Formats: sequence, C-alpha cells, structure tokens
Amino acid sequence: HAKRAGSHGMAVHDPSMTDRRAADAALGEDIAVALERGQLHVVYQPIVDLEDGRPLAAETLLRWQHPRLGPVPPDQFIPIAERNGAINAIGLWVLDQACRQAVEWDARYVSVNLSPRQLQEPTIVHDVLAVLRRTGLDPERLVLEVTESAIVDENAGIPALRALRSYGIRIAIDDFGTGYSSLHYLTRMPVDILKIDRTFVNELNGTSEGAAVTEAVIRLSQALHLTTIAEGIETEEQAAELRELGCTRGQGYLYARPHPAEELDWNRFATSPSGQPCTP
Ligand code: C2E
Ligand code: MG
Ligand code: MG
Ligand code: MG
Repeated sequence: HAKRAGSHGMAVHDPSMTDRRAADAALGEDIAVALERGQLHVVYQPIVDLEDGRPLAAETLLRWQHPRLGPVPPDQFIPIAERNGAINAIGLWVLDQACRQAVEWDARYVSVNLSPRQLQEPTIVHDVLAVLRRTGLDPERLVLEVTESAIVDENAGIPALRALRSYGIRIAIDDFGTGYSSLHYLTRMPVDILKIDRTFVNELNGTSEGAAVTEAVIRLSQALHLTTIAEGIETEEQAAELRELGCTRGQGYLYARPHPAEELDWNRFATSPSGQPCTP
C-alpha cells in the first residue's frame, strides 16, 4: 500500500498521513499485548423482540482500555489488529468469554463478531468448535456475525462458514447494505440472519424515500427466509416504522446500550414456552 501511494506521489508527503501511520503502528504494538496485560473486556448489547421489547439475545462487543489513551473505540483498533494479526488471538478470547457467559445465562443465544482475517485462518472451524467444547455451549446458541466483504472478497471463508453452520452455529451478515457486493451471492450463502446497518435505520423519518432501502432489505430477507435484525434503533418512531415494515428483531440505544454482563438484568431474557432457547 505504502509503495503504491508513493508511486502516485501523494500520501507520502502528507504529514498528517505520516503521523497517522506512526500512530497506527504504535497502536498496533499496543493492541498486540493488550490481551495479556488485561486491558480488554467485553460488553453485551441486548437484541430484542420489536413487538414487546423483550430481550432475546446479546451481541458481544469488545472494549479496550488503553493505559495512556483511555478507551479506544473498536472501529479504530480492530482494523489495526486485523492487519497485524492480533485479532486472531483476541477474537478467540472474545468468543471464549461470550460462550462462558451464555452458559451462565442459561437459555440465551449470544452473538460474536468474526473478523475477515479470522475467517481466513485454516484452523478457524477447529478453534471455534474447541471453544464450544471447552465451555459446554450448545452450538445452536451461538451466532457468528460476519460482514458482506468477509463473505464476498474472501472466498476461502465460505467453506469455513458452511462447516460451522453444519454444526448448528448460525451465521449473520453484519452491516448489511454497506458493502459493495452484488445481491445474487446471497441466495448461495450459508446465512441465517441479516442485520440491517444503522445508517438505514437512521434514515427512517416517516417518508417513503427514507424507508425505501430499509423496506427493500426487509423484503429481501423475508424472501430468503432469513431473520432480520435492525441495528442502531434510537427512537420509538424508528422502532414503530421497522415493525410496520415487518422487521421483527432489533438492537439500539432505545432498548439498551452495551453493558458489562453483571449490569444487565438477565432475568428479563426470554425462553420459548418449551423452555428451549429462542431462535434469533
Ligand atoms: P457492529 O458489529 O455493527 O456492532 C454494532 C455497533 O453499533 C457497536 O459499536 C454498538 O455499540 C453500536 N450501537 C448499538 N446501538 C447503537 C445505537 O442505537 N446508536 C449508535 N450510534 N450506535 C449503536 P462498537 O461497540 O463501537 O463496535 C463497532 C464495531 O467494531 C462493531 O460493529 C464491529 O464491527 C467491531 N467489533 C466490536 N467488537 C468486536 C469483536 O469482538 N470482534 C470483531 N472482529 N469486531 C468487533
Ligand atoms: Mg456486529
Ligand atoms: Mg453491525
Ligand atoms: Mg458496524
């Protein structure tokens, strides 16, 4: 990348770019040791039934408390950890935390983000199954969230997802609609859940234009028999509009922000009448 930018005679002489690279390199070294130094923890955001706001599940989200910089947002450090490979060990640690927590919570399912780099690891299927075995979590209670680009760009990831799914683990496409993929791949993908990115939820404002893309995504998801989850719901109006459009699941600040496990009221989490965990 650096070479290419240089040959175009651009970025190399831009001091802000140089600063940024230096800062990223420093962060990369710090994130590589953050796990062993105990600077990482996970928080959980409930995923709710949009009809009654009942929590059905939780998404696991990583947090980093940097010793000098304080909290660094995942959007900032995850891409760096992807590039230097630190995400592999960190991602498995997050999965381990989430599975342990889900076992403790009894009949809930838990969702964990899986980075494209992790999906490229030849041992990923084995590693995920090992965590499930070690923690005793039923594979049907685990959802792995991957982005469109992880599925489309990195073809090698598809057999891994297919294998994981054959063990009962469910797969969600995260941030749907923000990638640059074509739609025809969707019918062939090993996928169970489609998460509508919050940029679309944000545009819901009572106009048909604002709702057009969201509605199209919901219809597409329904036609493919996928569960639809809307992300980033912040207002009652957005929730009402999503319900009207036929979206059944959601998450967002309206319902709950991400919290450490012990701060969430797990008794409100629902089991189906049979006592079986709710499907996503
Ligand atoms: P994501 O997987 O799409 O997660 C949803 C993000 O939206 C989270 O940001 C969450 O805190 C935020 N969010 C939830 N509800 C609302 C809302 O109502 N309004 C707004 N404005 N935001 C809301 P967060 O925790 O900062 O994570 C950002 C991204 O970092 C995640 O997006 C995911 O792509 C990545 N990430 C987080 N944890 C992990 C992890 O353990 N592994 C990997 N590979 N990626 C992770
Ligand atoms: Mg996610
Ligand atoms: Mg998302
Ligand atoms: Mg996101």
